Amino acid sequence: MKNRPNLASGRDYLAIPGPSVMPERVLREMHRAAPNIYEGELVDMVPGLLDGLRSVARTRHHVAIYIGNGHAGWEASLANVLSRGDRVLVLHTGRFSVGWSEMAERLGAEVEMLSFGTRGPVDTARLAEVLAADTGHAYKAVLTVQVDTSTSVRNDIAAIRRTLDAAGHPALLMVDSIACLCCDVMEMDAWGVDVVVTGSQKGLMTPPGLAFVFFNDRADAARDHADCVTHYWDWRPRVSPRLFPNYFDGTAPTHHLYGLRAALGMIAEEGIEAIWARHEALARAVWAAVETWGQGGPLELNIPDPAHRSHAVTTILAGETRGAELRATVERMTGLTLGLGIGMGEPTDRASDAYFRIGHMGHVNAHMIMGALGAIEIGLRGAGIPFAPGGLDAAAGVLAEAAGG
Ligand SMILES: *Cc1c(COP(=O)(O)O)cnc(C)c1O
Repeated sequence: MKNRPNLASGRDYLAIPGPSVMPERVLREMHRAAPNIYEGELVDMVPGLLDGLRSVARTRHHVAIYIGNGHAGWEASLANVLSRGDRVLVLHTGRFSVGWSEMAERLGAEVEMLSFGTRGPVDTARLAEVLAADTGHAYKAVLTVQVDTSTSVRNDIAAIRRTLDAAGHPALLMVDSIACLCCDVMEMDAWGVDVVVTGSQKGLMTPPGLAFVFFNDRADAARDHADCVTHYWDWRPRVSPRLFPNYFDGTAPTHHLYGLRAALGMIAEEGIEAIWARHEALARAVWAAVETWGQGGPLELNIPDPAHRSHAVTTILAGETRGAELRATVERMTGLTLGLGIGMGEPTDRASDAYFRIGHMGHVNAHMIMGALGAIEIGLRGAGIPFAPGGLDAAAGVLAEAAGG
């Protein structure tokens, strides 16, 4: 019998929700000899990078850079505002709120978790009740994840701010935007967010290894009496360094900075609002395909209401263990790697095997998304998972309309 062709051979496509696809321009910028870390181009370019970062978070406030992943950003943000014994309110909408809360706990905070399930956003009416009950203003901070990458829910950060304001509650509003900065809209200053945490490897299209903590003056005032802060995590020297090495408390992350410069250059050229619109159109195409397929089989979007879905990542329920099976089949048959289930952070959690995720963040466009959806359809056939036809047609229709014919 003739051997079957290996259709996975060729360029790999990693469509997981981070690390995201890295542009050649970013990779090329990093391919260079070690630069001087005391003077010259590297030293000169850092203020421009900080401006670029501020412009994508839409803030005129401070940004500290840490050599680390998103978890480092989590710890850095908490260490600068909390003291041992402080009470913290965490709004749970998926796995990542749990991860951040565990970090606060280990730092010595008293964490209270308010759960909103795994298929929708924070309910601000319930939040208002909890804030109203805190008459002594014991909560020092409210922690929320803008897009929880496990559930793909997108929380309405502006509405959460309004809820805090309406309650007259002074807690800091701290937001994890690691999954979605540069994909979903973030208006740090206009929305009144006190702290935003993000990382380099998702919407910012740069390899994992840099964490960014944006903070305003209210958050910085909390730093005055935060007893969790240690030398390394202290954000103050990083935003007003006496000497260049203070930016990073040691050697600069040289090559990451070059990569970041290229990424921020690309972002500035396209324009952040155009980037948000591109992500929205690509996300809608994914939703249209899945909704169509689901009319004849088990596939279902985890977040039923489109208004609460992220534009950076989509979580798809696939019935019992079929999420893992589909992922493996797609990878074997086509060379596309999809995101696995990582738990949604609830005791009643659905099995991680029962769903999969598509990352559509950063350096992605219409033909990549159509390719990914086509690969999923091949995998559905290969795994014998039933689906209604027409998913690719539906996605193409969305993209054709968005691109303007
Ligand atoms: C990816 C991610 C993290 C964790 O980032 P690491 O770089 O893996 O530490 C945290 N929160 C959200 C919402 C994420 O998407």
